[in-house]
Amino acid sequence: MATTIGSTVLGYPRIGPNRELKRALERYWASRGSEAELRETARSLRADTWRTLREAGLDSVPDSFSFYDHVLDTAVTFGAVPQRYADLGLNPLDTYFAMARGTDSVPPLEMTKWFDTNYHYLVPEIGPDTRFSVADRAVVERFHEALELGVRTRPVLVGPVTLLLLSKPDPDAPEGFSPLDSVDKLVLAYAELLRELRRAGVDWVQLDEPAFAADRTRRELDALRDTYHALGSIGDRPKLFVPGYFGDLGDALGILASAPIEAVGVDFVAGDSRVDDLSALTGLRDKTLVAGLVDGRNVWRTDLDRALTTAATLLGMAGDVAVGTSCSLLHVPYDVAVETHLDAQVRTWLSFARQKVDEVVVLGRALREGRDELEGELVAARRAVADRNGADRVRDESVRRRLAELRPQDARRADYAVRQHEQQEQLRLPALPTTTIGSFPQTTEVRKTRAALRAGEIEHSEYVGRMRGEIERVVRLQEELGLDVLVHGEPERNDMVQYFAEHLAGFVSTEHGWVQSYGSRCVRPPILFGDVSRPEPISVEWSAYAQSLTDRPVKGMLTGPVTILAWSFVRDDQPLADTARQVALALRDEVCDLEAAGLRIIQVDEPALRELLPLRAWQHKEYLDWAPEAFRLATSGVRESTQVHTHLCYSEFGDVIDAIVALDADVTSIEAARSRMEVLADLDTVGFARGIGPGVYDIHSPRVPDEDEIVALLRAALDAVPARRLWANPDCGLKTRGYGEVEPALRNLVNAAARVRNTLR
Ligand code: GLN
Ligand code: ZN
Repeated sequence: MATTIGSTVLGYPRIGPNRELKRALERYWASRGSEAELRETARSLRADTWRTLREAGLDSVPDSFSFYDHVLDTAVTFGAVPQRYADLGLNPLDTYFAMARGTDSVPPLEMTKWFDTNYHYLVPEIGPDTRFSVADRAVVERFHEALELGVRTRPVLVGPVTLLLLSKPDPDAPEGFSPLDSVDKLVLAYAELLRELRRAGVDWVQLDEPAFAADRTRRELDALRDTYHALGSIGDRPKLFVPGYFGDLGDALGILASAPIEAVGVDFVAGDSRVDDLSALTGLRDKTLVAGLVDGRNVWRTDLDRALTTAATLLGMAGDVAVGTSCSLLHVPYDVAVETHLDAQVRTWLSFARQKVDEVVVLGRALREGRDELEGELVAARRAVADRNGADRVRDESVRRRLAELRPQDARRADYAVRQHEQQEQLRLPALPTTTIGSFPQTTEVRKTRAALRAGEIEHSEYVGRMRGEIERVVRLQEELGLDVLVHGEPERNDMVQYFAEHLAGFVSTEHGWVQSYGSRCVRPPILFGDVSRPEPISVEWSAYAQSLTDRPVKGMLTGPVTILAWSFVRDDQPLADTARQVALALRDEVCDLEAAGLRIIQVDEPALRELLPLRAWQHKEYLDWAPEAFRLATSGVRESTQVHTHLCYSEFGDVIDAIVALDADVTSIEAARSRMEVLADLDTVGFARGIGPGVYDIHSPRVPDEDEIVALLRAALDAVPARRLWANPDCGLKTRGYGEVEPALRNLVNAAARVRNTLR
C-alpha cells in the first residue's frame, strides 16, 4: 500500500484535449449518439488521462472525472437526488442530466460559481428528509477500470462539509433548516463509501474542502472537526487526503492538522499561509503535507527555485512533504505544446495542465533526490522565468507614465444631479425608457461570416459589408419595435472579453486553450501578459455606423476592466489593481472615442464584478476600492451630458452592493425578472439613487413573457423607484436566443412600458 503521496495534482481537466467529451455529450443530448458511445468516449479520455499522469511520473494519480460537474457527482453518489428528478422515472444517467440541464417539465438545479473561479457547479438541494446512502458506485467502478489499465488511482470527491455548505435547503424544507444540519447523516454515508473503496483496494481518497478558504462560523469549523474525527476513526478505510484551496485555510488548518487523517493539502499560491503558521501545528508531524506549489488556476511557468525553497523549509514540519498543485488543474487548458501559432516568446513562459504535471514531478524529485539531479530542468525553468521578468515587452513605459500621472479627479464625474439634468437635455428620453442589454441573436449567418473572415475565405471589406448589413437590420428592427435606446447588436463579437483582448496590446489568445465553464460549455480565456494599451479604436466604427442610421440614441457597448480581468489569465507579477488600471485606461480611450464619434450613451458591462470579490471578508475593502475605481477611470473621461450605463448579470448583490453604488454609473441594468423586483428595495436601502433597469424579461429561458406580466413587474418596480429613474429592459444580452422569441418578447416589453407610462400622469 502506497504510504506516501509523493507528487500529485489535485485534479485534471476532463473535457478532453480536443473537447471530445463536449462533443459526445452534445451528440447524446441531441439524440444523435447512444449512451454506449458517450460512455466509450469518456472511458477512453479517462484512460488517456490516467496513463499520461502515470507516465509523466506522478506518484499518485487522481481520478477526477465527471460527465458534467463534480459537485453534482458527489451529491448523486450519496443519493441526494431531489424527488422531482427521481419522479421522472429516467435511467441513472438521464436523471443526472435532468438535474444538470432540466427537461421539458422540470427546470435544472440552480447553477452558481465555484468560489472565485469562472467554473459553475450545480447547487445540491438538501432537506431534513434527504436520505443519504451510497446510491451510485461510479467512483468505485472507475477505480476498477483504472486498475485494469495498471493505474491505482486516488478517487476525488467533494468533502462532506463543503458539499453541504455549497448546498441549499430543499424547497420544502422547514424555515430555519440548513443543509449542515444533516452532516452526521451524510458522514455515515461517506463512511460506508470509504469502507467500500478500501475493499476495492483503494489506498488513498481525496476529500476536497475548499469551503474553508472562506470565512466560516464556529459551528462550521466544529462540523469540520467532527466530520474528520468520525471519518478518520472508522476501521479499515483508505488513507484520507483533505486539501483546502483557493486561499488560506485559517482556523481549519489547525483542525485538519489534528484530525486523524493522513494528509492535508495547503494552497501556497492563493493562500498566504506562512511557513511559520505551519510550524506551530504539531499535528502535522505524523501527516503528509501536500504543498500546493504549482498554480492550478493560472498559466505561468512555475518559479521552481522559489517553490523548492518553500518546500525545503516545510520539511521538518510534517511527517512527509509531498508536492502538488494549488488546486485542481480543471481551471487551465490541457497543453501548451499544441499552441503552434502563439507568440513564440510568450509561449515559453507558459505552463498548461500537462506542463504543470511535469513541474510537480520535477519538484517532487528535486525534493527527494536533491537539486543536483535535476539541474537541467531547474535551469530551463529559471531561464524562462528570468526571460519573462526581464522582457521589454511586458513593460510599456508610456502606459506606466500615464498611470503614474493619474489624479483622483480622473476617476470622478460631476454630481449626478448635474449629469442627470444635462443628459435629459441632450437625450430627451420619455419616462420609463426601453432598451436592451446589447447583443441581438447571433444567427448562423453572423457566426459563419466571422468564421469565414478568420479562415481567410472572405476579404475584410466583404466582412465589413456583411456586418453592416446585420447592424442595419438590427437597428431597423429596434426602430420598428419602438425601443427608445438602440444598440448595434454586437454581431462582430465572439465573446465579450475575448473580442476586446484580441484588440488590446498586452494580451495573446490561444487556439486550443479551452477551459470548462460548466457542463459541456468551454471558454478560451485570453492571456494578459504585459502592460495593456489600445493601439486603435475597437468598437467605434460599428457603433458610429449604427448611430448614423438613426435619430434615436444608440448605446456604445464595451466590457469593463474588472470583467476583462476576471475572464482572462492575468499576469502575476504585479498587483491586480495595477493591471485593472491599465485596462481601464485603454477602455477610457475607447469611451472617449465613442463620445467623439457621436454616441451619447455608452454602456460598460461588469457582469463579473462580484466574481472577483475575495473569499475572505478582511480582503474585501481593498477590492471594493480598486474595482469600482477602475470602472470609473474607464468611464469618467466623458462630458456630463454623456450617459454611462453598466450591466450586472445577477440580482443577489449582498457583498458588492456598495461597489455597485461606487461605480457611479448613470444607469445600471440588473437581473430581476426571476427575483420579482425585490432587489430594488435593497438598492434603495443603501441609498442608490441613479437610473436602474431591473430586467423584466428572463432571457435565460425560451419563454416569451406576455405584456401583462411585464406591466406587473414594472408596476412593482415603481413601488421602489420613481418613474424618472426606471428603465425597462431584458435581464441580459439576447445573443443566445432566437428571433422567434426575441421579437415578440421585445414587442411586449415596449407595449408594457407604454401602458405603464400612460398611467403615470
Ligand atoms: N452586452 C453584453 C450582451 O448583451 C452583456 C453580456 C453579459 O452581461 N454577460 O451580450
Ligand atoms: Zn448579463
